[in-house]
Amino acid sequence: MAEIEREAMEYDVVIVGAGPAGLSAAIRLKQLDSDLEVVVLEKGSEVGAHILSGAVLDPCGLDALIPDWKEKGAPLNTPVKEDNFYMMGESGEVRIPNFPMPPLMNNHGNYIVSMGNVCRWMAEQAEELGVEIFPGMACSELIYGDNGEVKGVVAGVFGLEADGSYGPNTEPGMELHGKYVFLGEGVRGSLSKEVIAKYGLSDGKEPQKYGVGMKEIWEIDPAKHKEGTVTHTMGWPLNSNAGGGSFIYHLDNNQVYVGFVVHLNYKNPYLFPYMEFQRFKHHPMVAELLEGGKRVAYGARAITEGGWQSMPKLVAPGVALLGCAAGMVNVPRIKGNHNAMLSGKAAAEAAYDAIKAERSGDELSAYETDVREGAIGKDLKMVRNVKPMWSKWGLTASLMLGGLDMWTNNILGLSFFGTLGHGKNDAEATEEASKHKPIDYPKPDGTLSFDRLTNVSFAMTNHEESQPCHLHLGNADTPISVNLPKYDEPAQRYCPAGVYEVVEKDGKPEFVVNFQNCVHCKTCDIKDPSQNITWTTPQGGDGPNYPNM
Ligand SMILES: Cc1cc2nc3c(=O)[nH]c(=O)nc-3n(C[C@H](O)[C@H](O)[C@H](O)COP(=O)(O)OP(=O)(O)OC[C@H]3O[C@@H](n4cnc5c(N)ncnc54)[C@H](O)[C@@H]3O)c2cc1C
Repeated sequence: MAEIEREAMEYDVVIVGAGPAGLSAAIRLKQLDSDLEVVVLEKGSEVGAHILSGAVLDPCGLDALIPDWKEKGAPLNTPVKEDNFYMMGESGEVRIPNFPMPPLMNNHGNYIVSMGNVCRWMAEQAEELGVEIFPGMACSELIYGDNGEVKGVVAGVFGLEADGSYGPNTEPGMELHGKYVFLGEGVRGSLSKEVIAKYGLSDGKEPQKYGVGMKEIWEIDPAKHKEGTVTHTMGWPLNSNAGGGSFIYHLDNNQVYVGFVVHLNYKNPYLFPYMEFQRFKHHPMVAELLEGGKRVAYGARAITEGGWQSMPKLVAPGVALLGCAAGMVNVPRIKGNHNAMLSGKAAAEAAYDAIKAERSGDELSAYETDVREGAIGKDLKMVRNVKPMWSKWGLTASLMLGGLDMWTNNILGLSFFGTLGHGKNDAEATEEASKHKPIDYPKPDGTLSFDRLTNVSFAMTNHEESQPCHLHLGNADTPISVNLPKYDEPAQRYCPAGVYEVVEKDGKPEFVVNFQNCVHCKTCDIKDPSQNITWTTPQGGDGPNYPNM
């Protein structure tokens, strides 16, 4: 094939992803020097279209970045007023009082927000400072310089032929070169994955761990709405089948975020995370809240859970990983947005110093030091044993020992457990179907619970059908020849958007990939037991169109 010719544009810093991490980096760079040339590229059709968090926001990141965010009209309108934690049984619940919880778990001072709207607001702040933001521009390739450094990205390739080749209607996109490239792609970023592998950034670290988070926005009866209330639950329906739990956040306008996270290290390939979420809404406490209301949006996204011991090295020549591209979620708090913001700020400060010293294309080691030794490191280190305890010893033991460990870390700055490892990655954790029994899930009733495809229509996801499938199978036979007999092909169940099906054709099973349904959660890239699925970015603008997730 003839070499593809592309226009190239030169910047000081090229930022991939307009999430809280990428936008914070852009804002901080321009605050430090308004002459710096900074570009942010976002695959969503607009900023916020692909953003999905809970979200209870700890404002410490925003405080550090834009101390006068209140005066500037940031959409943090719902302070947390009430914090509840329940252990669920099938027909009842027990409230765990707040006093045994370590102080770091307290949500007072935090805000219930739409992170999509927070990102939209941050993008406005960035643009006012002179940042160029291009939504609808997916970054599909990295460009390397002569010395092996990351020198830029290819963005904005549109109209590929169905087989992935270039045709007469293909726009080849452009090259964006930077003195430094920041990857703020969020969890399991496709370019971040390449960089981590190429430079061995995860060598010597524990494997990254993940959960899949599903979320619905409900408009509920105003009489039942309690603005500012935060509720978390554990226990039923997952019980010992998997780690995870729910969140129910009452924001403004009689809306409630109802979400459910399933840790992806579950063993039973018959487990169906989406149906666990649907079943959860029939718990009497939850059903009572939602009855008479309506679901107005649905979405899903993986969440990083490996924490401190899984965080890769953050820098390689010319490139830095920000936020959840490196996994900066504090798991027991289910919060990563504050660390995403702080990491963007720290990376920007390191790049500013480097550029001022006329450096480029090298490692921003000052950023690495800031993250590990500063506020982010402190936040993650304190809770580093909660996830491995849960994986090893189950919910009850981890609640007690994890609670004790957080207390001693929080108060005394030490752990009696050292740093526990995670063991296997989530794909390897899946056991063969022969060791497990299928799980019988109740049929959705169409009022509180919904079938997957109906719900996906509330993610407003769109992928041009003429485009190549962005979900690449390493070996096209593996789903049927290996995964089906060994694991009953769990892709049929772990995908919260119903992308993968096994159908019968001419009396034989066939694997179907409905890539049009994809909501960009990346669960398939993580959980496929054969590690045969690679999520790549489709053309810009494709994917979900979340309203105020
Ligand atoms: C269900 C759930 C609930 C959560 N609840 C909370 C909570 O209550 N509080 C909290 O603080 N945190 C919460 N989190 C965690 C939080 O969402 C993350 O920590 C945070 O989103 C990380 O920010 P980020 O900027 O690194 O990545 P993201 O927010 O994921 O942003 C990445 C952006 O980059 C874009 N992008 C990715 N790849 C490319 C590419 N190749 N080209 C162009 N654009 C690209 C994406 O479209 C996206 O807009 C939750 C997460 C989940 C899944």
